[in-house]
This record gives sequence, structure tokens and C-alpha cells, in this order.
Amino acid sequence: MTGLRKLFVKSFGCQMNVYDSQRMADTLAPEGYVETSTGEDADLIILNTCHIREKAAEKVYSELGRMRRLKEAAAADGRKLLIAVAGCVAQAEGEEIVRRAPTVDLVVGSQNYHRLPALVARAQRDGHVVDTEFPLDDKFEHLAAPAAAATRARGVTAFVTVQEGCDKFCTFCVVPYTRGAETSRRVDTIMAEAERLADAGVREITLIGQNVNAYHGAGPDGRPWSLACLLEQLAQIRGLERLRYTTSHPLDMGDDLIAMHRDLPALMPQLHLPVQSGSDRILAAMNRRHTRADYMDVVCRLLEARSDMALTSDFIVGFPGETEEDFAATLRLVGEIGYSGAFSFKYSPRPGTRGAEMGEQVDEATKTDRLHRLQHEIDRNRATFNRRCVGRTFPVLLERPGRHAGQIVGRSPYLQPVQIEAPTSLIGAIAAVTIAEVASNSLFGTLKREPALAGAGA
Ligand code: SF4
Repeated sequence: MTGLRKLFVKSFGCQMNVYDSQRMADTLAPEGYVETSTGEDADLIILNTCHIREKAAEKVYSELGRMRRLKEAAAADGRKLLIAVAGCVAQAEGEEIVRRAPTVDLVVGSQNYHRLPALVARAQRDGHVVDTEFPLDDKFEHLAAPAAAATRARGVTAFVTVQEGCDKFCTFCVVPYTRGAETSRRVDTIMAEAERLADAGVREITLIGQNVNAYHGAGPDGRPWSLACLLEQLAQIRGLERLRYTTSHPLDMGDDLIAMHRDLPALMPQLHLPVQSGSDRILAAMNRRHTRADYMDVVCRLLEARSDMALTSDFIVGFPGETEEDFAATLRLVGEIGYSGAFSFKYSPRPGTRGAEMGEQVDEATKTDRLHRLQHEIDRNRATFNRRCVGRTFPVLLERPGRHAGQIVGRSPYLQPVQIEAPTSLIGAIAAVTIAEVASNSLFGTLKREPALAGAGA
């Protein structure tokens, strides 16, 4: 180890990238890298990129222009600043990144983060390094565990990646190309990570994966375990009070997993279950492999298992060939389900996907109009869901200080942010909170009684 060096990781995109960024920092910590919150004084900057949004690669190149200036400023100060690009854009663009942006020292694909210390050393020594292979070894076996202090600093909730990649090949999506085939982590490594997190004060874990409910990691008995079995095992960890998982595909909502929502009190009554469209014609064109009726059937089974389930979804409007009639079917579906929230996007073609080559691309003005109408319907449903919470009392995990002194923010079982007046000593506790009023995105509540559980920091 050669003394302390500063690391700035800038994360774009989904929760999986946030998780990966933390694991990269943990993996570099034994090499003497400590995290800093700005690129100005860093010795190593990692851009952890996302390929989901439109023009993702172009945004990375423009960010790299800023990084070049930081590198020049560091050189003028007599410091050597290394620039690395990681994540899905790194995976997709590979060598092209160093060709277009020679300021980049290292390009590392999403399966290779465990090799970061060696790759950084090579980049320091030899200049440009590109590593975007999909190695056969399991990166999770090699990624460093976070120090307890780092975990505590990250709060009382945590993400744990249990699955990566996807075999579904929806025609709009780049994930099967950037993250590769579906792979699941072994149960014992997940259990060890969850136990460490619980020991460090984490009360809620969200299991993440691009197709998390397709999870089939090797269990201690040598057989593949389903996500239901994994959740049941995790629920037994002392101190771990809440479990969630995301993102799920409707086809993989097996009976055993649905039954967990009935039988496992730690499993929160909220599920992100993307449908993308309410039209069977468009679902087929998207290669979603399920119909609207299949989706409704899953929702009914979930509500039978747990009647207060809150559902959220993702929608794409303006997929090639989408007519006004198809779009109307999507609006009707939103109204029928009564989502507690949803993400919605205009379709934009991703190079290399089948959707990008389809005819009948929908014009921009129509997409914009449909997006506004859909978002209006989603907002209306969310407001109805939130209003129904007023007067109810439910357990809220108190997570962090609020914006104002004396205020803390927690999460309801349905994943809504809840603001209450309470001392920060209660952070980490699960308190009974009565909801007094709602704003557009938050609930405001009052403590019904002092929580029985001590704060995580205590
Ligand atoms: S299931 Fe999800 S991750 Fe897999 S291809 Fe479809 S949208 Fe992408």
C-alpha cells in the first residue's frame, strides 16, 4: 500500500449501478483509496455509466470532456489523475472510448470490477487498458466486503445484488447485450453479505437484479434455490426487519414467490412489476412473452396473497407501431391496477436491439403527447393511493435526517417517503406512525408511540 489516495465514483442510472459503485470503492479501499465526494481533488475518477437512457454514450463523452479539464488541472498541480469508465456504456463501447476520448486510462466492463486493483495498477504503469470480457469466474466471489464503518455510513437500508443479466431479450432493451446472460449469485455469499450488513445496523435489504425473480443461485444443498427460498432464509437473520426485491418480470412470478408475500412478514407489501404496455399487440412486438391477461392474473394472485400490495411499474410509450388504440389500452390498464407509482418513458431506439430496426417508428410529437397523458393518469393514481393512507397507522423505518431541523424521513411498507418530527436518535428504528397529510410525493405523519426498537447507531 502506498499511502492514501482519493477516489471519486460518479454513478449514473439504476440501483444496480449504485451498488456496483459501492463495491468498486470497497474493492479499492485495501489499495489505500478513500472516497471523496468531488472530482476536483481525486487521484482516480470512475464514471459508472448507464446505457438505458437516450444518447447515453454521448452524455458520457461530454462528461469526459469535463474530466479532461480536471486531468489537465491536476497535471498542472503535479498530480496524476487516472480516469476510468465502467458500467454499461463501457461494456457496449469498449475500445471506442479510448479512441474517442484518449484522456481515459481504463475501460472496465460490468463483470470485471473485482479486477480493478490490478487494472488500475496496469493503467498507471502502461497507459490505456480496456477490459470488457465476460470472464467465467464469478466476480462476486472476489469483490471485497465493505468495512463495517463504510456500511454504517451508508445508512440503515442497503441493496444487495443477487442476480445479473437477462435472457428475455425484450426488443427495446440493451441489458442482455451489456450485462450478458442471466447469472445468479450463490446463496452462501448472499447470506454472508446480508449478515454483515445486519451486524452493521442495516434493517432493510433490497435484493436487486435486472430480472431478480428469475434468481436460481446454488444453495447450500447444491441445488438451485428460488428467490422465494432465498427470501425465507434471509428473513431469519437477526436484526434484518425488512426485505424487498426488484426488478421483476411478470413471467417469473412463481406461486412460491407470491406465497412469500402472504407468509413472510419481513417481505414488504410493495412490488415493482413492469408491464411496459397494456396492448397485447405491442407486448408481442416488444417480445415481452406475456399478455395483458397474464399480467392481470399475476396481479390478482398477488392481491389474493396480500390484499394491501402496492404495485409500481415501468411504461414505454410510442413503441414502433403503437396506435392510439394500443395507447388507450395502456391508459385503461393503469386505471384498472391503481398503481402507487410508475416510471414512464418515450421509446427511443437502442443500437443493436431489434426495436431499432422496426418500421412504423412513432413520431416525436405523438410520443410526447402520449407521455404527458400517461403521466397525468399515473399521478392521479398515485395521489389516490396516497390519500387512502391518511388516518392509517403503519410501521415506518426511520432512515435519515430530513431537510429541516427536528425532522426525519422514513419509508412506509409501501415505499412512500414519510416525514415526521422526531429526534435523529431514532434513525434505524421502526416506529408506528399515523399519517396526517399527503403532499405530491411524500406523506407527513406523527409518531403514535415511541418505537420499541433501539436505533441502529446505538
Ligand atoms: S426482462 Fe427487463 S432486463 Fe430483460 S430484456 Fe426485458 S426489459 Fe431488459
